[in-house]
Amino acid sequence: MGLIVVSNREPYAPRKGEDGQLTWRPSIGGLTAALDPVLRRVGGTWIAWGEGQAEVEEVALPQGDPRYRLKRVQLSEAEVRDYYHGFSNRALWPMSHYFIERTKYLSAQWQTYVEVNRRFARTVLESREPGDPVWVHDYQLALVPRLIRESRSDARIGLFWHIPWPSSEVFRTLPWDRELLEGLLGADLIGMHTPEYVRHFLSACRRVLGAETEGDTVHWQGRAVRVVDRPIGIEVDEYGALASSPEIEEAADRIRRTLQTQLLLGVDRLDYTKGIPERLEAFGDFLDRHPEARGRVTLLQIAVPSREQVESYRQLRSRVEGLVGRINGRHTQGGWAPIQYVYRGMGREELVAHYRAADVMLVTPLRDGLNLVAKEFLACSRDGVLVLSRFAGAADELPEAVQVNPYNPTGLAEALNQALGMSLEEKKARLTRLQERLRGSDLRAWADGFVAELTGA
Ligand code: UDP
Repeated sequence: MGLIVVSNREPYAPRKGEDGQLTWRPSIGGLTAALDPVLRRVGGTWIAWGEGQAEVEEVALPQGDPRYRLKRVQLSEAEVRDYYHGFSNRALWPMSHYFIERTKYLSAQWQTYVEVNRRFARTVLESREPGDPVWVHDYQLALVPRLIRESRSDARIGLFWHIPWPSSEVFRTLPWDRELLEGLLGADLIGMHTPEYVRHFLSACRRVLGAETEGDTVHWQGRAVRVVDRPIGIEVDEYGALASSPEIEEAADRIRRTLQTQLLLGVDRLDYTKGIPERLEAFGDFLDRHPEARGRVTLLQIAVPSREQVESYRQLRSRVEGLVGRINGRHTQGGWAPIQYVYRGMGREELVAHYRAADVMLVTPLRDGLNLVAKEFLACSRDGVLVLSRFAGAADELPEAVQVNPYNPTGLAEALNQALGMSLEEKKARLTRLQERLRGSDLRAWADGFVAELTGA
């Protein structure tokens, strides 16, 4: 059996060296971290948009130790603009995260989305051997299950929806609500991160399509589609081992020595869903209300560049950088500046060293499908505290985190105070319980479990 994984982003991105040779580097982002190990293990084909180096249609990965093949779907600039930056990121993304006022519902972009989904489905049909299960990922490819189903009625097709599924009241603002649901219902198994998202999805099927639902199953056009909550896990033991290795411990010590204060850490793609301005403001409030903390705590915010072609993301960057300047301008004294700001992505080791060094990790999105960073931090930490938004999908699974409402600046500032002042004993007790939970459902269990459910193994 070969597994076929379909996603928008490719797991490795090509870069041409001066000698003309291509090197393939792992792409930053939750999906690659999650699925590359799965395909390495079971083998098969990953189908994704080939961004750059259009002449390469197929490549064996990982480079030097090939375990599976990547088939690259070529898209024109106009297609990328309308399908990806347009419909995916300016219609589906804000709608699913409850930011209706940020949506742009343009029918020309929807048309391109449909065409590109067709192209992906065609590539699946060309690559697939009879019996190969297909696992489609995320909101960029919602129509692919139905488009495959139309030609292969017997195929086993799964889809994982990695972002939130909003209330049907919000979902119904989408002009193509019906088409999107019908596209997804081409699958046999649909996975989401929380029971809440599943409940909203089932309700959308009833209200928008008039479909019948029974427990976790949607009955649609003579088929039964199961919709299940299966939150993604991480490679808990790998992260733990890396974090406690001598090199990382040393790097973490260096970070702590350089700062000479307690470390609050934020790690996010620079996205309006992540609540970065709200977090910075709350930190500013905290310093106003707790003068004794000045000089004793530093917020290090790592902001990973994201979707820089979209105007609202450029505006967000200016807003965040303005806030950093304003808060630092107000509080900097005697060689101490309250916020350090890094605008770049980090590789795994550098990131893990920061997780290890942090006293408090701030994961405070306004809305987030799951949030892998929260779980990665827990796996890497020795005695740190996680402050976690109740609007991150991961909050369901992590009750021992200090949970906050990111829309409440006073509450957030007080949570910071609570986290910074927590006794070592309590920190360790919470962390131990959280780490046990993570171990009970790690990445491998998630992926194997989904594939097993999909194939009926
Ligand atoms: N990440 C990374 N380098 C960075 C920051 C983040 O490799 O500098 C990775 C991080 O390890 C995590 C992923 O990017 O696996 C982010 O996933 P998450 O679910 O937190 O958010 P998303 O970006 O998918 O919305």
